Amino acid sequence: MSRRSDTLEPRTVEADKVVDSVCPYCAVGCAQKVFVKDGKVTQIEGNPASPISRGRLCPKGSASKQLVTSPTRVTKVRYRRPYATEWEDLDLETAVDMIADRVIKTRRQFWQEETDGKRTRRTLGIASLGGATLDNEENYLMKKLYTAMGAIQIENQARI
Ligand code: SF4
Repeated sequence: MSRRSDTLEPRTVEADKVVDSVCPYCAVGCAQKVFVKDGKVTQIEGNPASPISRGRLCPKGSASKQLVTSPTRVTKVRYRRPYATEWEDLDLETAVDMIADRVIKTRRQFWQEETDGKRTRRTLGIASLGGATLDNEENYLMKKLYTAMGAIQIENQARI
């Protein structure tokens, strides 16, 4: 070891807390160690204690700190109206009301009480394709919500 490398320390040594977590990107569920200093995430690494991933993360999982800390992360609701050329910011309450109105309208419009004489009570007007950053709990709640609404086309990118 050179004198220079002998003086180097990993950036994780300054962490005041290390939290066990799971990579949010795909269904493999690699285990992570999240290093925190002064309430901020400073590094995310694979957890060697995991029997699934044994300390490894793929490039997506290795870069997942950016999901939390990137300055380009979108933190407002962005909306581009039909035929508009510019995006606008909406407050969350307005956006949720707009989504709810469209869900109710679409469900009514495409509701099937029966198909070929058989009771179906479903809608084919609503489908869901979840992204890989959804975690197990979010996917569970989304499946419950869509099924309760009568939707049957419910999938996640991680299964495709
Ligand atoms: S995205 Fe990569 S690191 Fe994350 S769970 Fe999937 S395989 Fe593991």
